[in-house]
Amino acid sequence: MPEQGCTHIRAITTLTHRKRYECDECVKIGSEWVHLRTCQECGVTLCCDSSPNHHASKHAHQSAHPVIASAQPGERWLYCYSDDAFAEY
Ligand SMILES: [Zn+2]
Ligand SMILES: [Zn+2]
Ligand SMILES: [Zn+2]
Repeated sequence: MPEQGCTHIRAITTLTHRKRYECDECVKIGSEWVHLRTCQECGVTLCCDSSPNHHASKHAHQSAHPVIASAQPGERWLYCYSDDAFAEY
């Protein structure tokens, strides 16, 4: 991984992906989402910052799980909220 400043993304050796394409929190409250992200620390799949509820970003800050991967089919990248670092794989 090319990111110099982010040790979080570099520490990831196995990517966590889910087959189910839904935001766990939006499903609970009956809301909708735009894109999905999977937390690489605990594997929860949540909605992106373009979605009304920003669940992935809230989860990253509240749980101190900085790294998410896109859960969109065909997208292959990781993002670290803590360092604002982006990496394709
Ligand atoms: Zn980082
Ligand atoms: Zn959501
Ligand atoms: Zn997490």
